[in-house]
Amino acid sequence: MSSSTLVRRADLKAGEVLCDHCTARCCRYFAFPIDEPHSWQDFDYLRWFLLHGRASVFVDEGTWYLMVFADCKHIQEDFRCGIYQDRPMICRTYTTDNCEYDNDACYDKLFESPEQIWEYAQALLPPLRQTSADRGTALPVLASL
Ligand code: SF4
Ligand code: SF4
Repeated sequence: MSSSTLVRRADLKAGEVLCDHCTARCCRYFAFPIDEPHSWQDFDYLRWFLLHGRASVFVDEGTWYLMVFADCKHIQEDFRCGIYQDRPMICRTYTTDNCEYDNDACYDKLFESPEQIWEYAQALLPPLRQTSADRGTALPVLASL
């Protein structure tokens, strides 16, 4: 369903289900909390996550998360769940109350590329010591430990 035909929650009629108007947005990623980074090594791990693409790091209400964009393989052509009776508990307990249907994807912080997380680290941490290995690179890199 294109966004131009998005039905507003407030316009749902009695008995209508929001999911019937959705392209299964909540089934197209997973996210989990991660430790808040404090060191260059911590940020280097986050940079590595983001180098893989189809991932982002966000901060919501003080908690850091890794988000991986990957469609569940059981989304059907009509956007319904193909294993509805056997779907995982996390899917069973999820509700439309605060779901992604009309989520504006606004977070306290959002990092979508390795360059963004590295520049954030540069603003936060003491300068990295330049080594002969990273001389000439666009950004200073972490020396091997
Ligand atoms: S719970 Fe929300 S995001 Fe998930 S399919 Fe239903 S309307 Fe879409
Ligand atoms: S198992 Fe079903 S409800 Fe759960 S993520 Fe996959 S398609 Fe969505």
